Amino acid sequence: MTAPIIPPAGLEQVRSGTHPVRRILRSPFAVASLAWLLLVVVASLAAPLWLPYDPLAQDFSAVKQLPSAAHWLGTDELGRDILSRIFAAGAEALLYSAISAGVAVGVALALALAAAARPVARSIGDRATEIVMAIPAMVVILAVIGAVGTNFALVMAIFGLLVSAGLYRVFLGQARGLQSQAYVEAAGIDGMRQVAISLRHVLPNMLTTVFVQFVLIFAISMMIQAGLAFIGFGPQPPNPSWGGLIQSASKAVYDFPWLMVPPGLVLVLTILSANTLADVVAAGAGEPPRLIALGREAKRRRRTEKAAAAVVAPTDAALVVDGLTVGIEGGPALVTDVSFEVRSGQVLGIVGESGCGKSVTAMSILGLLAPGLAVRDGSVRWNGHELTGLSDQEMLAMRGKQIAYISQEPMRALDPMFSVQSLLVDAIRRLRKVGRADARGVAADLLAQVGIADIDRVLRSYAHQLSGGMAQRVAIALALAGNPRLLIADEPTTALDVTVQAEILSLLRGLVRDTGMAVILVTHDLGVVADICDDVAVMYAGQIVEFGDMAEVLDDAQHPYTMALLAADPHNPAAVRAGRLASIPGQVPAPAAWPSGCRFAARCAFAHDSSHDPQVLRPRVGDAGLVRCDRAAELHAAGADWQSATEGVTA
Ligand code: SF4
Repeated sequence: MTAPIIPPAGLEQVRSGTHPVRRILRSPFAVASLAWLLLVVVASLAAPLWLPYDPLAQDFSAVKQLPSAAHWLGTDELGRDILSRIFAAGAEALLYSAISAGVAVGVALALALAAAARPVARSIGDRATEIVMAIPAMVVILAVIGAVGTNFALVMAIFGLLVSAGLYRVFLGQARGLQSQAYVEAAGIDGMRQVAISLRHVLPNMLTTVFVQFVLIFAISMMIQAGLAFIGFGPQPPNPSWGGLIQSASKAVYDFPWLMVPPGLVLVLTILSANTLADVVAAGAGEPPRLIALGREAKRRRRTEKAAAAVVAPTDAALVVDGLTVGIEGGPALVTDVSFEVRSGQVLGIVGESGCGKSVTAMSILGLLAPGLAVRDGSVRWNGHELTGLSDQEMLAMRGKQIAYISQEPMRALDPMFSVQSLLVDAIRRLRKVGRADARGVAADLLAQVGIADIDRVLRSYAHQLSGGMAQRVAIALALAGNPRLLIADEPTTALDVTVQAEILSLLRGLVRDTGMAVILVTHDLGVVADICDDVAVMYAGQIVEFGDMAEVLDDAQHPYTMALLAADPHNPAAVRAGRLASIPGQVPAPAAWPSGCRFAARCAFAHDSSHDPQVLRPRVGDAGLVRCDRAAELHAAGADWQSATEGVTA
């Protein structure tokens, strides 16, 4: 396990390694390039204030002169000052390049962000850019010049539009990768709108690429302008342009070659500088952040007093899932006829092997089924309100505020671009509608609530600076940002070591006790169920096969699958006493291969003739809960146990 990076006490920590400005400052070439670009920009924009000569003024007594004190870069064939003409043309060259790069990056970025978030937008974006890429750019440019003349602002904007099609692919690849990050999904689960997710979590992570592409397109546009001016499609004489200056110089290249040097050098240096900057920024983009000690006592952050948004115990609330069936559109069902209820202050454990439908059930409640999946039947009612028919907007308003979610990978659920304080304050402001100062106070309270002692340091930390347990506590604090009344925890302790698991379970127990939240805990670990749950639903192949009070079910399992899970559980004292852990032969069948009878029959040590009949939930012996096995009573009476029944059987 990688040790968290903890700064020495009292030292401010900053993210330095990936910051583009710091990368530029570390490279002498990049510093020189930046200095040159700044010089060109400032000198060009301020040209009217400092140019020594009128760029159009001719002096036939001083034609084709080499550099001198009077003319620093010499004069051309009409005695015009070359320095004045270069920088008089600079502002337009820079402006047109910026227009072109701005249009290219702006259009490509907007399309890519939309396409990464919505399949429909992606389909439109893909087709539109394919069409644009099939158009020969130079032919279009020449046609536009033919139609509108040398309106370079329009010509370069159209050039940017044509270039944006290729750029769209670059941005889309990165945006899609970021959209699939768990912290982006977590933001959606917390109720953040898609536009806000794109702007808050996707775009900031793309800024380096955006900057690099902008600079590259800027440099290319400068070359295109110079090329067009060289062949006579630029600003018309006597107005100066960089391409026009080179074209004039080319006519006198044999008798006065110096004329080519100043404009050529300025153009080449400007393009090279832009490319160097782009290279330096792009080259360090993958460096991990590192810490810099500023050697001064860090300012202690003031906490605001508890705001109106402080955590309050919710009123009684209930989730009722009834006959829920979820399936692939046009394909098999993944979850069938699932029913359970969970109330305020209760913890329901949903347990089973991978592929049994636990997470699909949880995601159905959140309205976040993967594309292609849909609720086919049944209902999910929260406080009497049906959730299955709600629109995306209505579910968005529900998530984060009423129902929150924590996943098994807390480190990935935290956006690495933002500090814990930034993430918490943003979520609290959005979900509780409070001001920034109040949100800071609530953020500190939430961290205290999830058992974090060094609150100031954690607030300043980024995800990579947190241990797994600390990150899960922060993820839980984030989930509590909207003061939810139902928390869905999907394998929240799977990625943690045993000691931290116990701490997180203890934290969840305390939260249920203190806030009265209802919790649905998805897990494959019966030890976790025994530790924290009030009720348990055992799922196998998309069905609940046993349901009831946790102690009743674990002490007296009546479905062979529950028996098998217990016999295979290293936390089960009876299994440990037996001297070996039992195995369950075979695998959970794929949904398309579910038998019409008992779905556990192929692996069941007690299978019999009637196991091929469809099994329904029936009362457990003792009426405490339900079991989906018509031999349950018989097996219970016979004192059957999985361990003995599978003696000598290997998985
Ligand atoms: S119905 Fe038969 S196969 Fe299914 S769990 Fe019960 S005993 Fe096993």
